[in-house]
Amino acid sequence: MSASLQQNCVKCGLCLSVCPVYKVLAQEQASPRARIQLIKFFESGQLASSAGLKEMISRCLMCGSCAANCPSGINHYARFMKMRTQMARDHGEPAAVKSLVFLLAKEYRARWAAGLARLGQRLIPEKFSEIYNLGNIPVKRLPAFNTRPFRQAVPEIHPPEGVQKGRVVYFTGCATNYLFDRTGFSTLTVLSRMGYEVMIPKNQTCCSIPLLYHGAVNQAKENVIKNLNCLDHKGIDAVIVDCPTCGVALKNEYPALQDRFHLDAKQVERISSKVIDIMTFLKSRNGLDQLTGIEEAITVTYHLPCHMKNGLPGMNTTEQILDALPFVRYRRAQDANDCCGGGGTFFQEYPGLSKVMADQKVKNAVSTQARYWLTECPVCRINLSGNLSETDRITVRHPVEILTQKRTRQ
Ligand code: SF4
Ligand code: SF4
Repeated sequence: MSASLQQNCVKCGLCLSVCPVYKVLAQEQASPRARIQLIKFFESGQLASSAGLKEMISRCLMCGSCAANCPSGINHYARFMKMRTQMARDHGEPAAVKSLVFLLAKEYRARWAAGLARLGQRLIPEKFSEIYNLGNIPVKRLPAFNTRPFRQAVPEIHPPEGVQKGRVVYFTGCATNYLFDRTGFSTLTVLSRMGYEVMIPKNQTCCSIPLLYHGAVNQAKENVIKNLNCLDHKGIDAVIVDCPTCGVALKNEYPALQDRFHLDAKQVERISSKVIDIMTFLKSRNGLDQLTGIEEAITVTYHLPCHMKNGLPGMNTTEQILDALPFVRYRRAQDANDCCGGGGTFFQEYPGLSKVMADQKVKNAVSTQARYWLTECPVCRINLSGNLSETDRITVRHPVEILTQKRTRQ
């Protein structure tokens, strides 16, 4: 997702067939190349800023598929990011998006909001959580907030089991910290079994991708600098992420923001060059060998997050791992690589459009009859599990979680 911003579109149409929004709407104005054209007209002064223009730019999942498939090397992702900032400045953002940005901009606000949400989940009567939706997802089907933020529940330095092989820093992101602590505990367990000491810096905060998508550039800058400072440790083997969007931020976006945010180039390079997702780290360091001896098979299917596919292509290893694990029966869904329609806040802003994509994914995953539907991205997890029905017998999990859970015969 990083290349020149100034390439010319040759109107080949290759980006249309990979764009999830275009696939549903089948309208030229919803295509990646149309957005690029609009941006060009806007930048040259031929097109004025308007609410309609903002709407056309915002109706995008920021999945990166167009940029990854464009033969002209157009960096749609970077151009959309810049244009979104401009549109947010000119026309503001919806109240729900503004609130999210406000909360993620400061860690203490996110912590308070998560605490209140946790209380709400306990106290609000079930009939209300069935009635109210976030986008098309009933509040009742949202994941339970962690009892305690993950980073408060674990020590800042987690020791290895047995002889120490190395040392890593773990960037947990907001989702593991507030919603999916099981992912965090599983990540710690496998790293520790492999012989790694794990540092989990308490000062880390939101990777800032949600802030950047919605024009909150100054707030993002503060968070980026904070994260770089707390992840920068001598003698570490890797910076581990469990979320592909955090991975894209640390690996691709922080270097891209270097000049704009006046970042320390050497520090950015030290960190971005070491970023690796947990599953790829396990595979590359023979961590999967620790898992032999598990005999009872589990059936799983998989959803490939767009930010893994397009933003971290070298780390797209989970399917190979699932195929190779002796205790896993991997049943591939026919659309495993297609977007789920989550897209950050897209599922909340465009529920109808998002639901068309999610329903198709659910249908194909359920038809595999797998017990677990694995995916790394927390927004995909929220979106996919939120769109399952009560009768669907499949549970959405992060892949690292099946490596540590107690298995029961199926
Ligand atoms: S793939 Fe690239 S060159 Fe082709 S139409 Fe899309 S933006 Fe233009
Ligand atoms: S980022 Fe994804 S949704 Fe947005 S225009 Fe490109 S392919 Fe379509």
